[in-house]
Amino acid sequence: MPQVTCPACGSLEQVGSGVGGFHCKSCQRDVWILSCRKCHNACVFYGSATGAGNLELKCANCHARNVWPKARLRAINAEARRIDRANTAAARQAAQEANAQAAERSHSLQDHVASQNKTLQSYLGQLNGLLAGALDSDKAFEFSQLKSIARLPQFAPGLLAHAGPPPDPEKFLPQAVHGLGAHLPGAKNSTRSR
Ligand SMILES: [Zn+2]
Ligand SMILES: [Zn+2]
Repeated sequence: MPQVTCPACGSLEQVGSGVGGFHCKSCQRDVWILSCRKCHNACVFYGSATGAGNLELKCANCHARNVWPKARLRAINAEARRIDRANTAAARQAAQEANAQAAERSHSLQDHVASQNKTLQSYLGQLNGLLAGALDSDKAFEFSQLKSIARLPQFAPGLLAHAGPPPDPEKFLPQAVHGLGAHLPGAKNSTRSR
């Protein structure tokens, strides 16, 4: 909606487009906005439109004399008021709908919270029952339940699992003596004869 400054009190007022006037909410005057017959500039003025006859006004822009029948000005007032009433009613309805939606949201939120509380209450009931039930149960808790089977490491010798070849005694004997040396006393004891 376009806004126009009231020529009587200076307040900013909303105007229905194409109406030709408005009722000022601040000073309660009827204001008209009509285009000049000559320069087509907007002439904004206020006054009284009671009775018969015409209302004369000089255009502030071109100073041309404009004449408007008072009946037409009153018709403009009536239309402006009708639009104001419609706007007020629409605003009221929008506010009512917003309130209704807020109430609906609040109700659904309350329902949601109530359902959450119910679920929570049922969980608490289960937990209380769990503790009480554990006391009544004849299945005693045993520490053997905590035991786990030990996993011993496997012995893996690797290459050491295979024994090497046994030593050859031949390799450790001194060379055999030959010739005359073999007939010396004790020679046969220190060496071996081949
Ligand atoms: Zn005003
Ligand atoms: Zn003019």
